[in-house]
Amino acid sequence: MNISLEDKKYLDLCVQKAEETFRKHDNYPVGSALVINGKLIELAGNQIKELKSYAHHAENQLIINNATKLHEAFEAGKQIVLYSTLEPCIQCLGASVTNHVDRIVYIQQDPNGGACGLEHDNMGLFYKHHWPEIIHAQISDKILNLMFEFFHSEIKKGNTKWPLKMLSIFEDMKRSPVMTVPEDQEFFVGQKAFIEKDGKVLVLKANFGIDFPGGKIQEGEADFTKALKREVKEETSLTIQVGKIFATWQVRIEKGHKNEGKKVFLLGYKCKYLFGKVKLSHEHIGYKWVDKDDYQELYEDNTTYKMLENYFLSTSNTGGV
Ligand SMILES: [Zn+2]
Repeated sequence: MNISLEDKKYLDLCVQKAEETFRKHDNYPVGSALVINGKLIELAGNQIKELKSYAHHAENQLIINNATKLHEAFEAGKQIVLYSTLEPCIQCLGASVTNHVDRIVYIQQDPNGGACGLEHDNMGLFYKHHWPEIIHAQISDKILNLMFEFFHSEIKKGNTKWPLKMLSIFEDMKRSPVMTVPEDQEFFVGQKAFIEKDGKVLVLKANFGIDFPGGKIQEGEADFTKALKREVKEETSLTIQVGKIFATWQVRIEKGHKNEGKKVFLLGYKCKYLFGKVKLSHEHIGYKWVDKDDYQELYEDNTTYKMLENYFLSTSNTGGV
């Protein structure tokens, strides 16, 4: 996690603001801070409920309230940082890009409304040039716990629809561990899907040996589950449900690859097949569905094979989801 003491100080202020937003104003606990050249401009909390306005997300308010200051700061080449307790949504991220925010630092990932994993390379040139540096800094679980408290208090009041959905989404997320991209790039972090269908697991064949669908986590990727689903779709055309991590291992990148010899730290996920027909990308030359009785046919003296073995040896191979 690449944050400074100053970042930590402003994130702490955002946490305080989020707490106040919930305890005093009974709003969804999101707090945000706008900082220009190291100086705090304003703190804001979410105000959707009292203003009956979805435009009043904490981050968006800061941008609207200080739009002229932001314009002047950009013209003067000052550094604009937006801090938030929650991963910004598409509205707040969009307003940040348009108003030339240089950095966004947030605490809690949001698998429901978070937009920081957006593939901005597919968007217009403006976005490419002005996309902020986005940092996910999970400094504590305090925000997540505060959000749970809020959902429960809403449910108690009889407001069940949205809070129940949110509760289940965030509980799912809490179960999967959070990892950050290594700063120094000495090694890569990758995810591999062990996709189960009717007791069988999908094993791919590559030029270098057996493999599983998945890929390296790219810088800026905030939602790893989404990233894994996307990789699996690209490499096999299958749609899957991502379950728990059951194994971790390390490999070296094969010969001939541009990162040859570099280490990749891999996380193996138990996944469940949902739908689709296997269609391979150019990265693989074959595939096989194997079960606990015939996987040994694929024996290779390497860690990837050991992980396949590990998969079948682990007590429950029901997909873990
Ligand atoms: Zn927002």
